[in-house]
Amino acid sequence: MIDTKKFYINGAWVAPISDREMEVIDPSTEQACGTIAIGNQADTDAAVAAAKAAFDDWSQTPKARRIALLKKFLTVYQARNEEMGRAISLEMGAPIDMALTSQAESGSEHTAGLIEELEKFEFERALNDSAPNDRIIYEAIGVCALITPWNWPMNQVSLKAIAAMAAGCTMVLKPSEIAPLSSLVFADMVHEAGIPAGVFNMVNGDGAGVGSHLTSHPDVDMVSFTGSTRAGALISKNAADTVKRVALELGGKGANIVFADADEKAIARGIYHCFGNSGQSCNAPTRMLVERSFYDQAVVMAKAAAAKVQVGRATEHGNHIGPVVSELQYNKIQALIKVGIDEGANVAVGGLGKPQGLETGYFVKPTIFTDVNNDMQIAREEVFGPVLCMIPFDTEEQAIAIANDTVFGLTNYIQTQDSAKANRVARRLRSGMVQMNGTFRSAGAPFGGYKQSGNGREGGVWGLEDFLEVKSISGWSNA
Ligand code: NAD
Repeated sequence: MIDTKKFYINGAWVAPISDREMEVIDPSTEQACGTIAIGNQADTDAAVAAAKAAFDDWSQTPKARRIALLKKFLTVYQARNEEMGRAISLEMGAPIDMALTSQAESGSEHTAGLIEELEKFEFERALNDSAPNDRIIYEAIGVCALITPWNWPMNQVSLKAIAAMAAGCTMVLKPSEIAPLSSLVFADMVHEAGIPAGVFNMVNGDGAGVGSHLTSHPDVDMVSFTGSTRAGALISKNAADTVKRVALELGGKGANIVFADADEKAIARGIYHCFGNSGQSCNAPTRMLVERSFYDQAVVMAKAAAAKVQVGRATEHGNHIGPVVSELQYNKIQALIKVGIDEGANVAVGGLGKPQGLETGYFVKPTIFTDVNNDMQIAREEVFGPVLCMIPFDTEEQAIAIANDTVFGLTNYIQTQDSAKANRVARRLRSGMVQMNGTFRSAGAPFGGYKQSGNGREGGVWGLEDFLEVKSISGWSNA
């Protein structure tokens, strides 16, 4: 049984120095379902010191040994997947079937993918054929602070912690204080897998405390952050004095460009994708741009698809969507729905308030706004709830312009059966990712954004390189 009030530092579960505590709230019931400790500067310092002390050994540990340990971790993770899924479901409200599959399994999938990249990765090579005495060596960057959000907890934690371990870095994880239970399980899995003491450390806390202690700490070399653009900007400023590398994975406001020649499932697919995880995905396609000649028909199709989306408690089996994570998020979403109404957008589905029969819990009505224009606040701000804006467009050029008219640039989507048009538009979209016609991203594809969606790339070889320095040595002897 994991003691949720402890931290994982230097290979052991330790009592916090801080005496602050915080309740974890089950968003389906609004009731406390656990208590965590909220660390302070001294807790942060202890974790960073452990990571610093372990760095020399771990960064020099042969690749084969790191692979063997990560494979052991993968076995442990798979064996404890159910425990992980239950923790995620409880802390952030993902319905149990989804929590056990997409949510929890994202951790083992990323672990397996990063092990594969590590196996292939060449840490040393000649600069090129005509410079055999110039050696390029990739080395672990050092002690990393990993700061993660609550919406896809294990997706984020594994993309950072496993990549950092694979690269030879040591680390301190500060998971979201809203959804910390899964990271406690993750730390326990690291322990069970026998990862050496000090390589991975975990301290719970909030952004203003442990978060900012970590991002300004003189012994932290890199910050890998996933979360809001607001916090990402603050972290970058805080890390600037000590010139840390800062990798950011931030918010999004993805456009889903639906041309009149899209396949017949395109609209329903867009609705389900937007509402999945209760709309709490950074890459959710929240602006559906529809070619005007098809717009009215698309609205009818969207309403029909939305009518099939059920809302329910996280403990219930089925493919419904759960509550949103917290009262704060619930209130923020309600306020933005109100703004949309006041701005003159038409509520085609859903709207303000809770779905009938779900008065307790942070449940939001899946909502579709039609007659939206891209200047409205609901089309510009990340709502982070099950709220879709449908915006008409007239020409391909106009669709591209609307899609790019945002401060974000994470994922955009294209639906058309004209493959030349799809490729042409994909090239013009200012985002780190484009997904076309419902295709999934393959394992090893880099995840990350342009503009205010961030600057890092997670997953695949890029996810590994984010945690590496490049050393150039001249006069290398090949004798
Ligand atoms: P958040 O920014 O409020 O918090 C994220 C993490 O940062 C938490 O652990 C929090 O404690 C910490 N934090 C907050 N302020 C901090 C500060 N000043 N210094 C250091 N740490 C600080 O975000 P959230 O509400 O947990 O998550 C939702 C956001 O995450 C959305 O904007 C979403 O788009 C984004 N997100 C992005 C990606 C991506 O890969 N691009 C993936 C998932 C979520």
